[in-house]
Amino acid sequence: MLKYVKRVDLMKKTKSILSIFIAIVLSFICLFSSFDNTVILAQSGVLEAHFLDVGQGDCAIISMPDGKTMIVDAGDNKNSVKDKILDYIDTNFPKLEYFDFAIVTHTDADHCGGMTTVLQEYPAKTVYRPNVIATRSGFIDPVIAISQDDAVLDDNLKLWTETGAGVNDNQKDTLAYKNFIAQAYEPFLIDGENHTPQVIVSDGRIKHRPKNKSSQDIIGEDYSIIFYSPLSYTYSDPNDYSNIFILEYQGFEFFFSGDAEAQAEQEFAEEYSDYDFDIDVFKLGHHGSRTSSSQELIELVTKQSKRDKIRCVISCGEGNSYKHPHQEALDRFISLGFLEENLLRTDQLGDIVFEVKADSRGNYSLYCNGQKISDDDFWQKLFLDIQEFFVSFYNETPQGVYLSIAIIIIFIIIATALIIKSRQNKNTKK
Ligand SMILES: [Zn+2]
Repeated sequence: MLKYVKRVDLMKKTKSILSIFIAIVLSFICLFSSFDNTVILAQSGVLEAHFLDVGQGDCAIISMPDGKTMIVDAGDNKNSVKDKILDYIDTNFPKLEYFDFAIVTHTDADHCGGMTTVLQEYPAKTVYRPNVIATRSGFIDPVIAISQDDAVLDDNLKLWTETGAGVNDNQKDTLAYKNFIAQAYEPFLIDGENHTPQVIVSDGRIKHRPKNKSSQDIIGEDYSIIFYSPLSYTYSDPNDYSNIFILEYQGFEFFFSGDAEAQAEQEFAEEYSDYDFDIDVFKLGHHGSRTSSSQELIELVTKQSKRDKIRCVISCGEGNSYKHPHQEALDRFISLGFLEENLLRTDQLGDIVFEVKADSRGNYSLYCNGQKISDDDFWQKLFLDIQEFFVSFYNETPQGVYLSIAIIIIFIIIATALIIKSRQNKNTKK
């Protein structure tokens, strides 16, 4: 009997020593395997997509991993909205002098209204404008002169037409749109040098792109912005001129569609039905209107298996007269597997900020308002959190490596003391 107890004791002792040994080995693997990755972190770029709360309207500011910046629409022509955007840039992008890209998706005032003021303060090197002429009396849209000038080689700067159709079919005569168009072409100074903005007439034809038109897509070293729409040269609904585009970085995809409605969405769905989209952030079309974000579109651009993780953004004003977002649109998303808590509204949450960035191991994740959107399970997460803790010590404190090792040693001493104490207790009982 005594022999048996002794053998059990020996086994327990061996187990304890083995556990401590494994703990030490794991801790050191965990600690040192992270050191290599800290180098990756230092080199990685961060993508930021800011959806600003501009009341009823749209405004997004994107900061690319290579430092380039883009503004997509700029809300309405109200002082409160313009002040909001300028203050936001001042606070969040204090070094910004100009945008690399500005997009006005379509001619509605809640998209182009604030852009004139924004471009006066922060001009854009390249501006994407709708395929619509500003026809305010006494104003000549510069695109008309370009269209008639055969010497202009870049066809992206011209209005586009279809055989037999006149360019004058597409017109808008509001002051807001005219002011934006006039401002878009204004030269400005970069480092003391005069720069004339390149104003591109938006055209999303990828498959049937005319030979004389180069791609309008923005291709960075490790990110891309691909324009899929507009696909028609003219639309009966002004909203349908909106650019549909996807921003991609490190496998994370953001879907933008301005105020595109049924016709534009249907064209998109038919044209790209064979494409493999996998959207992570879906901005609802037309402020969450029931007439946008059709089931066909949602099913094409999102994967069913991960819809419970996809974040949706609805840019709308509190108590707006259109009653955006419409309940039918929200219900459509929920019935397709999206979670209600992931339908994020600017009227309820204010500004919504996404980031794609690498953790200490060099793995990229999507963050929403500072919260990591994670696939990891509980134990995986706990292990990664512990690893992150040691790595942040290593990175952020001058003696980080010694502190990390000291913490591991303290941990081992405590564990050993606890085991010895429990053994002593057992011996006393005997
Ligand atoms: Zn709108």
